[in-house]
Amino acid sequence: MNGRNGVILMSDCLFCRIVDGELPAHTVYEDDHILAFLDINPVSKGHTLVIPKKHVARSDQLGPAETGELFATAGEIAKALVDAFAPDGYNLLQNNGAGAGQEVGHAHVHIIPRYEDDGVKFSFEHGELSEQEAETVVGEISDRL
Ligand code: AMP
Ligand code: ZN
Repeated sequence: MNGRNGVILMSDCLFCRIVDGELPAHTVYEDDHILAFLDINPVSKGHTLVIPKKHVARSDQLGPAETGELFATAGEIAKALVDAFAPDGYNLLQNNGAGAGQEVGHAHVHIIPRYEDDGVKFSFEHGELSEQEAETVVGEISDRL
């Protein structure tokens, strides 16, 4: 399905339906390619989602210019959030794929302003990186770039 400006949308996608105006959202920014709106279940005050209007499930399905636009816009919105709410910090984060906790299958960037005592926890267990493994992993990645 085609939205305004010929943007490719999917009728069974929640965020495409927001782009299409079929579902409501609290929009903070919009241009021809990008839409940013408040997360309906905010983790903190100002929690914003930034999405490409074009339907892609994951951000690695965007071309470099589209990726640039998405993250550049997220960066500008982050500045606005910092200016508006003077948080103690913010997280820019993205879940790609169910294995990474993605629940809505339309690529999006979370901007989560952080406040002292906001109770938000990201929990990771860090491992060790041996020289041998680092060399192999660097090779696997850089061979593809
Ligand atoms: P993720 O787990 O990265 O896929 O995050 C999806 C996010 O979308 C969650 O933080 C939800 O609260 C948010 N969300 C789901 N439905 C809506 C909606 N209709 N409007 C705004 N945010 C939504
Ligand atoms: Zn979509």
